[in-house]
Amino acid sequence: MEKLLNFINGEYAEPSSGQFLDNYNPSTGEVDSLVADSNEMDMILAIQAANKAFDRWKKRPLKERVDYLFKISELIEKNADALAEAESRDQGKPVSLAKKVDIPRAALNFRFFAGEILHHKEVSTDVDGKLLNYTLRQPLGVAGLISPWNLPLYLLTWKIAPALACGNTAVCKPSEFTSRTASMLGEIFNEAGLPPGVCNIVLGRGETAGQTLVSHPGVPLISFTGGTATGEKILKSTAAHFKKVSLELGGKNATIILKDADLKKTIPGVINASFLNQGEVCLCGEKILVQEELYDEFVEKFVEATKAIKVGDPKDIKTFMGPLVSKQHYDKVTGMIEMAKNDQGKILVGGDRPDLPDDLKKGYFLNPTVITDISNCSELHQTEVFGPVVTIQPFKYSADAAKWANNSEYGLSASIWTESLTKAHKLAQSLDVGTVWINTWLNRDLRVPFGGFKHSGQGREGGEHSIDFFTEQKTVSLQL
Ligand code: NDP
Repeated sequence: MEKLLNFINGEYAEPSSGQFLDNYNPSTGEVDSLVADSNEMDMILAIQAANKAFDRWKKRPLKERVDYLFKISELIEKNADALAEAESRDQGKPVSLAKKVDIPRAALNFRFFAGEILHHKEVSTDVDGKLLNYTLRQPLGVAGLISPWNLPLYLLTWKIAPALACGNTAVCKPSEFTSRTASMLGEIFNEAGLPPGVCNIVLGRGETAGQTLVSHPGVPLISFTGGTATGEKILKSTAAHFKKVSLELGGKNATIILKDADLKKTIPGVINASFLNQGEVCLCGEKILVQEELYDEFVEKFVEATKAIKVGDPKDIKTFMGPLVSKQHYDKVTGMIEMAKNDQGKILVGGDRPDLPDDLKKGYFLNPTVITDISNCSELHQTEVFGPVVTIQPFKYSADAAKWANNSEYGLSASIWTESLTKAHKLAQSLDVGTVWINTWLNRDLRVPFGGFKHSGQGREGGEHSIDFFTEQKTVSLQL
């Protein structure tokens, strides 16, 4: 059976223990490859390689570092079809989605941060011609980059590109459920000529490989995207070493529809915000709030559009939703549907498995699910599902919508749908979230700050914010 290996110091390597994890194809429910189950020793080898490469990498001329990033971006584009198929096979997402979003975005991450660092400027201040202050930046060393399973290559490269652009070297720990495209990056790095040790990839479990990375004293910064509970553990593990930590965590995001929303634009937008990538996007709007006057019409049209969604073989161009990522996650999501039923929730559509051909019968497929009539205090309105399950509730005034949207420990994002931009702006001001979209969703400009309020994260990444995170800033004061 195919083995997915670590990439350390420019070479593919078996895990030192010889142990592997079963890697399931979520469409078939069958094991289709083995993933290196790396231990502490593998992680330490990768950290040592990154540490050894750091001094030369940070001293390379900016143009050389940037040229490597552009080359990596080109090679991702050249291998886009193979990467998209691999991402779909591991994660379950439709190949068409990976081709349209994940892989182009991974290539863009390298191009974008190459441009960002090329155009980056520092500030200087003059005090009466007698004192000149200016700032310098320096990389920190080995960056620990930990990514989740929902947008595997997209989110990992969002970290690798700025880390390397700023002159750090890196050790990456992708999710054990989606290691395939991360493992393929090694070949791309070698073809781009990236010096050995500059970017290492260690596969395996969070509690072993991941934990060694976050607690190792030789890794001064950690960029983590994943669940809030893991984020909390990481904060505790890094505190003793005062590491720089960026956390992009979970969300329980609201989709707010005001009575004057244009449903022709709103319904397709909210379908995407609810079910894209099987609802496995941290920014998906699981909590739909609709102003009373529009509630019945919205629910009728939204249910109709949900019924039209094609769930099935991710290789089929017409498929909008593939399977959920794993059996564990399927059980968690269906458990939450049961919880809604116990809370007297009404399932208007979904909650069941689609009828599929024999080869997909053991896959983790679930129909998109729409639930109404559960109380505002229900746990389902607080807990992140991270799957194709949304609730719809009516509200009377905008202030009520803001109250229910903010009634959560999370604060990642929200979307507002209305023809009144004044109302939308006022509502946006009252939401405790890192990103608000108005009449759109998931539109990402890589220059703007991205991150969460409350338990949805710590720090901001994107554009100059990533440069801030991946460097230390130094002020020099020169008496003239
Ligand atoms: P997890 O927190 O379970 O895992 C994320 C990564 O951390 C994985 O690589 C995991 O490895 C690793 N990990 C687990 N435990 C540790 C540890 N103790 N030390 C170091 N690393 C560890 O998240 P999921 O992969 O389940 O992803 C889903 C979550 O990610 C959702 O809550 C979602 O909202 C959030 N997310 C947030 C985004 C944002 O931008 N705010 C974007 C995308 C997702 P392993 O897989 O082996 O367990």
